[in-house]
Amino acid sequence: MNSETNSKQALIGLNQTELECICSHLQEPSFRTEQLFTWLYKSSVNSFHEMRNFPNELRQRLHEQYCIHPLELIRVTGSTTESTRKFLFGLQTGEMVESVLMREKNRVTICISSQVGCVLDCLFCATASMGFQKNLSVGEIVDQFLQVRRESQSAITNIVFMGMGEPFLNYDKVIAAADLLNNENGIKFGAQRITISTVGIIPKIIRYTDEKHRYKLAVSLNGFSQESRLKTMSIARKYPLPELMNAIDDYTSNSRHPVTFEYVLMEGITDSIDDAYKLIKLLSGKRCKVNIIPYNEIGGDYHRPPEKVIKAFIAVMKSAPFPVTIRWSKGTDISAGCGQLAVLEKTP
Ligand code: SF4
Repeated sequence: MNSETNSKQALIGLNQTELECICSHLQEPSFRTEQLFTWLYKSSVNSFHEMRNFPNELRQRLHEQYCIHPLELIRVTGSTTESTRKFLFGLQTGEMVESVLMREKNRVTICISSQVGCVLDCLFCATASMGFQKNLSVGEIVDQFLQVRRESQSAITNIVFMGMGEPFLNYDKVIAAADLLNNENGIKFGAQRITISTVGIIPKIIRYTDEKHRYKLAVSLNGFSQESRLKTMSIARKYPLPELMNAIDDYTSNSRHPVTFEYVLMEGITDSIDDAYKLIKLLSGKRCKVNIIPYNEIGGDYHRPPEKVIKAFIAVMKSAPFPVTIRWSKGTDISAGCGQLAVLEKTP
């Protein structure tokens, strides 16, 4: 990112009220706010000179005082074997963050990051190895979508907050970003096609339920009991499974959507037949769907189970009274699979 852009305030991420303040600061009439909002989010322009219904003099003043994007696209890595691409972005403050675009049949999903690194230490996750660096701003979250959309050959059908970071530890910014993505005068992305995933931050699940957000909720479970969750997720010590389940029950009783549980299959940790039966027992009677994710290796102590073990686990899960899908992560060859995102390089 050049130093000129670096020092200017970025407009992506601002809502209508905030853009109104910018227009008033520039002593522009209030109708400019709507025009500016449309250029930024609907037309997705890359420069102020593309804002054709603005006078030249206004475009020049905008250019002198502001920039459009808070992120700079540094690199796109394409999967050689699957329809997956990974996007590396630089922040104005120097850190870097990744997003992933996955295409499968008619479904085109962007996996968005909410933090640089992560304060939590789920043992199977590469992001944890970065440590926590910072929460992303609303603009840094929304800009991932806008810039990836520009690069995507097909329309994006789904947004998942499952990239780097724990979204509910950056709650306000993540919700504001989802609201901006959903805003009917801008990007207009359907709420039911946006999923926010958490490892189980109970107070935020309660708040999310109370605030009646319409985005889908996913919870990373990875165990059928408090003890089994604790094997890989130390956050379970702070937010134990029984309390987590109560919070989720409350959410599903008050939401139009069922909850989605993510369950990572790790060799010798979560993959036995007994684990499968206990998982079914835990979740029977709940309004839920389960995604089984065979582990994506990151060179540590954990491994993906052999195929016959995965098949045996899935065969048992097929008897569950709730929908179960298996998610073979895309892009594992470019470390873009679930749990593999980590930026270990420094800004150039
Ligand atoms: S799985 Fe999510 S919450 Fe856990 S360390 Fe990785 S990014 Fe953080």
